[in-house]
Amino acid sequence: CGIVGYVGPQNSLDVVLDGLRRLEYRGYDSAGVAVVADGRLSTAKKAGKLANLEKELAEEGLPAATIGLGHTRWATHGGPTDRNAHPHVSADGTVAVVHNGIIENFAALRAEIEATGVEFTSETDTEVVAHLLAATYRGLPAGPGRLAEAMRVVSRRLEGAFTLVAGHAAEPDTLVASRRNSPLVVGVGDGEYFLGSDVAAFIGHTRRALELGQDQVVEIDRTRGVTVTDFAGAPVEPTAYDVDWDA
Ligand code: GLU
Repeated sequence: CGIVGYVGPQNSLDVVLDGLRRLEYRGYDSAGVAVVADGRLSTAKKAGKLANLEKELAEEGLPAATIGLGHTRWATHGGPTDRNAHPHVSADGTVAVVHNGIIENFAALRAEIEATGVEFTSETDTEVVAHLLAATYRGLPAGPGRLAEAMRVVSRRLEGAFTLVAGHAAEPDTLVASRRNSPLVVGVGDGEYFLGSDVAAFIGHTRRALELGQDQVVEIDRTRGVTVTDFAGAPVEPTAYDVDWDA
């Protein structure tokens, strides 16, 4: 229901939790976060209020990281449980993904993925995206834009409405996102970049925003900045604007 992503010099967990707090007004039944540090993904997710997640984080902690993503869920497929909360992680532990919306063709995709021996850990429509992204990334050549290309390939296979944000354990400087029939905005700060389902996700940090169009993929990268393409990979110039309402 609400999505936040961050790449920059600040502690990503603080930025992501702050963004999730600012999105609380949308309503939700579960919340979760993922960070990438030292070549590994770490996640925490909890049914119920953000306070439940914050309590868990206070006890368990997450490594300090400069890349992170977070989600508040409004369940459509699978009840509001800890396991169904986002982020969802691929079976190989490399990809974390958060999702707003509904993947209409998830059942067919799930059957296809299960046939390859992957075991699902949730009842959500979203989990297929984590497994598809991990497998697609593995099949692509190393180099800049690899995760964005994986997101484009996977997005072309999805039906329905989605805002997706994903991170990869081997990509400590990059997050990618995709949208179809569901909102996605990019916040541009000084040497830091934000993703949100709504500008409220990052309004405490920057007022410079880019709005994505339908069927577009964005990469935010610590050194390369913001790159937007359509699902086929053609470059797109996003619409820039200044958010002018009070935080
Ligand atoms: N369909 C997804 C789920 O049930 C995402 C729901 C949302 O937009 O929060 O987990």
